[in-house]
Amino acid sequence: MKVLVLNCGSSSVKYAIFDDGADKVLADGIVERIGGFKSKLKHRFGGGAILEQERVVPNHEEALKIIIDLLINGTIKNISEISAVGHRIVHGGEKINRPVAIDGKVLKLLNECAELAPLHMPHNILGINVCQRILRHAVQVAVFDTDFHQTIPDYAYIYPIPYEYYEKYKVRKYGFHGISHKYVAKRAAEILNVNIEELKIISCHLGNGASLCAIKNGKSLDTTMGFTPLAGLMMGTRCGDIDPAVVLYLMEKEGTCLDEIARILNERSGVLGISGLSSDFRDLEKAAEKGSDKALLALEMFIYRVAKGIGSFIPVLGGLDVLIFTAGVGENSSTIRSRVCKMLQCLGIELDEHLNLEKRGIEGIISTPASDVKVIVIPTDEEKLIAKETIKVAEEVFTLVN
Ligand code: ADP
Repeated sequence: MKVLVLNCGSSSVKYAIFDDGADKVLADGIVERIGGFKSKLKHRFGGGAILEQERVVPNHEEALKIIIDLLINGTIKNISEISAVGHRIVHGGEKINRPVAIDGKVLKLLNECAELAPLHMPHNILGINVCQRILRHAVQVAVFDTDFHQTIPDYAYIYPIPYEYYEKYKVRKYGFHGISHKYVAKRAAEILNVNIEELKIISCHLGNGASLCAIKNGKSLDTTMGFTPLAGLMMGTRCGDIDPAVVLYLMEKEGTCLDEIARILNERSGVLGISGLSSDFRDLEKAAEKGSDKALLALEMFIYRVAKGIGSFIPVLGGLDVLIFTAGVGENSSTIRSRVCKMLQCLGIELDEHLNLEKRGIEGIISTPASDVKVIVIPTDEEKLIAKETIKVAEEVFTLVN
């Protein structure tokens, strides 16, 4: 069974096609700046050859047609070979706690969730609609960023505001990056050759967006993102947790409207907002080396918040066996990993700095044998997990049909 995995964003479509069992990527790529005059296409063939083009891609439907044409020219003979499509869906609300085959009922639920994630859901749903037209024969499966967090207990997910807002509007913590947290936790158990049920894990997904997740018995018990992906850690351009009164104060002082305050908190804050330089941690590390005070402060703030967040999950788990670093920063920045772990020495965490320097973008343990906590770098592979989950659901559908 060949599976196409799609991640439809507002102006981009990321894709990957997997073979049977999802162990091998046959081809993958991204179409960016959809809707603009110069959309960018990057396609990687199975053998590793890369095709890069600039062309006009007016909408998502056109992007998908281009992707399918590329797949037919070199990866598959016919679109009928694609048995299932796995869609990465940002929000499944409260009612969906596992990957599901998309039918009319699921689509209705997704549309209901759309207002909970207005920046992402309309594009996710658009991707499904287009695939239902172009790849009509394939089973469409939705895999959610939120479903892994459905095991978080109510005392952790309810906000201390009048309960009626939870009842009326479903305002609560949902959590995101669930596909990534689930994938790396499972992988950590495989690397350590230990049953995941026996591990207390904190996964640090540190990319442009960043979140921590406390995982026990293979289940998410808490995470730092909340009702939206704006909560929790300080991020590339997002503020993370701040005193909510700051928002009210700024709106009053600056006469800022809702759209503008949303832009400030989502796009102009985080390490970009502090440094005034960049949201990219590589730029900040370079600027800090050259003596930029603001870059130094931004990094210091980020590291402090990651370490503090990890510490806050220790009582949630009742201890810690494994600390995982993943995503762009977590996989690559040995400096940030080292500084976070130094702040956690009181937990018995001890890094092998040699291994830490060595593991950039590659998987491996970076703690010393004497460390009380195993620290592991694991490159995330959300597409692979989506493909595996999609195959499971599609097989159930095929069994039912036959
Ligand atoms: P997202 O998926 O949230 O956009 P990624 O997981 O791709 O984010 O991470 C992107 C971030 O990773 C970039 O902003 C960059 O700051 C950071 N990054 C990538 N490589 C390195 C590196 N070698 N050192 C430090 N940071 C890095």
